[in-house]
Amino acid sequence: METETFSFQAEISQLMSLIINTFYSNKEVFLRELVSNASDALDKIRYEALTDPSKLDAEKELYIRITPDKEHKMLSIRDTGIGMTKADLVNTLGTIAKSGTKAFMEALATGADISMIGQFGVGFYSAFLVAERVQVISKHNDDEQYVWESAAGGSFTITRDTVNPSLGRGTEVRLFLKEDQLEYLEERKIKEVIKKHSEFIGYPIQLVVEKEVEKEVDDEEEEEEETETKEGGPKIEEIEDEEEKKDKEKKKKKIKEKKVDNEVVNKTKPLWTRNPEDITHEEYASFYKSLTNDWSDHLAVKHFAIEGQLEFRAILFVPSRAPFDMFETRKKRNNIKLYVRRVFIMDDCEDLIPEWLNFVKGIVDSEDLPLNISREMLQQNKILKVIRKNLVKKCLEMFFEIAEDKEQFNKFYEAFAKNIKLGIHEDSQNRSKLADLLRYYSTKSGDEMTSLKDYVTRMPEKQKNIYYITGESRATVENSSFIEVLKKKGFEVLFMVEPIDEYAVTQLKEYDGKKLVSVTKEGLEFEEDEEEKKAREDEAKSYEGLCAQIKEILGDKVEKVLVSNRISESPCVLVTSTYGWSSNMERIMKAQALRDSSMSAYMASKKSLELSPKNAIIKALKAKVDADKNDKTVKDLTLLMYDVALVVSGFSIEKTDVFASRIYRLIQLGLGIDEDEDQEMKMEEVD
Ligand code: ADP
Ligand code: MG
Repeated sequence: METETFSFQAEISQLMSLIINTFYSNKEVFLRELVSNASDALDKIRYEALTDPSKLDAEKELYIRITPDKEHKMLSIRDTGIGMTKADLVNTLGTIAKSGTKAFMEALATGADISMIGQFGVGFYSAFLVAERVQVISKHNDDEQYVWESAAGGSFTITRDTVNPSLGRGTEVRLFLKEDQLEYLEERKIKEVIKKHSEFIGYPIQLVVEKEVEKEVDDEEEEEEETETKEGGPKIEEIEDEEEKKDKEKKKKKIKEKKVDNEVVNKTKPLWTRNPEDITHEEYASFYKSLTNDWSDHLAVKHFAIEGQLEFRAILFVPSRAPFDMFETRKKRNNIKLYVRRVFIMDDCEDLIPEWLNFVKGIVDSEDLPLNISREMLQQNKILKVIRKNLVKKCLEMFFEIAEDKEQFNKFYEAFAKNIKLGIHEDSQNRSKLADLLRYYSTKSGDEMTSLKDYVTRMPEKQKNIYYITGESRATVENSSFIEVLKKKGFEVLFMVEPIDEYAVTQLKEYDGKKLVSVTKEGLEFEEDEEEKKAREDEAKSYEGLCAQIKEILGDKVEKVLVSNRISESPCVLVTSTYGWSSNMERIMKAQALRDSSMSAYMASKKSLELSPKNAIIKALKAKVDADKNDKTVKDLTLLMYDVALVVSGFSIEKTDVFASRIYRLIQLGLGIDEDEDQEMKMEEVD
């Protein structure tokens, strides 16, 4: 028979060595992974058969069968699922790496546990935790039966299978166990592992067990007796011990015989059809894990039934942490499995739940959808729209339930704050409700983030707006010049330091009837009394000359130059227009490689320079300009100040060489180097 040899893709090969060589005791996860793959394969064929029942012809029964073969030290896991063609075997089991391959190795290097393997989409390779050699025998409706085989070491082989009996359809994974892993051939051990990890798999998991039964038989009867052997199971020889041989002399006698039996070891009754009150946390956790490949318990669960003109049941879970690839675009749209009257239909039905809820996992079982529904039909389906609306509603309920427990909510928020913010951006209907889930650090929050609700309760009576600052990190915004005056006035400022905050807050606009106001944008108005107002206006008047002069020097660099009401100690800041990008947004957009540059020309911040009349530098500049409008040093200093204002306000300096020259000139001055001696340092021309 012709055997072809293939090399594993480099990363996969690396992953396999890691799996084989890492000291790791919790090896039992291999069985969960292989059973989960079998279940996925069964889902696929069942779905195909909905539109074309003949696809089941080769093998009508859908099941998973585990057969321990002590003689060959081999454990077999067989399913009657969709099977793999030769090309599938080559591609999916060795030559094409998924993004999870690398991500999993990186996770391992930073202390992740091998049992997390399923989450990264490389669960199959966990077979090598216990096996020194693995065979995958597979028969797909569209191809012949092939055997994939590998003992790791960088390569695998594919052979057209003429040796093993035909599978009809499906896959058999044969694990030739390492000498120290033979416990996985024990009935008790297998049952324990299945119970722990795969109890809620939706197909029967049969365990082929040998039972000793005592029988009274006549001599003649015994001759004819055939050992019962079920198809696919191991061959059983009748074993008689010494005692039984003696018994043979008697006419009627007792014999012990070994009988093979396919014992179903999981609960196949779908959990969601049961009454929530009768389901324990452990059962939900176990169901959740077999549904999601997650290795740890869920953070929250919502199990409900909707009745009325439309009927469905659902179980929704919030995981306890975010997956490694949550915002990867090529990923599945969501994690809700759709069932119709207990039959699995599909697991990434786009319209079942909005994108921002893609971290919620679970199942929906509809009584009303037709069984043979296609993806295309689902798109315009009214029933689906109603289901979707209800799922969103129930998710929100679940999140607010989580919020009742601070510790739980912190975990939730750490993992899924981005999704909540995305929800605020996308979901206009639930926007204001979602705003109650937001938490931010602020000038008054201390070490615990604050909700907008708590913010509002702390607002001084005369404060009308909710103030926020966006920026790169808490450290940069916390000490920003922009919030100097607000701090003095006792007006709390929220720190929004996630890129997505910029998007969310532009949609949110207000909370509890109060406007959300950015402190880095122009037109910031504070509530002030008559006296304060007059003082500010007088100040503005006396600085008109300086402002005009600076505007002339800066030219198109700025829209306006004006006296600031938001800064005091710092000399100046650059603010952006109300509807344009903030400096932070400009930074975010610049970081996006594929942004549309015409958009940035349009949105890129129009800046205005604001000066603080309380600052000594500004005061001195004013004095200079008042004395001589065309004082030469004013121009230099203004340009330098502008560059510093760029940095302080969160922009980047475009011409760093010019900036550097200015600074060097200052250093020269400081060192008393004569300007004319060093013409190269001259900077009049550089600008
Ligand atoms: P995942 O299950 O997350 O896709 P795995 O490493 O567990 O990752 O499996 C890799 C792929 O191999 C599966 O996506 C599937 O295409 C294929 N596969 C594995 N086991 C089976 C099986 N029993 N029947 C059919 N295909 C299988
Ligand atoms: Mg898998």
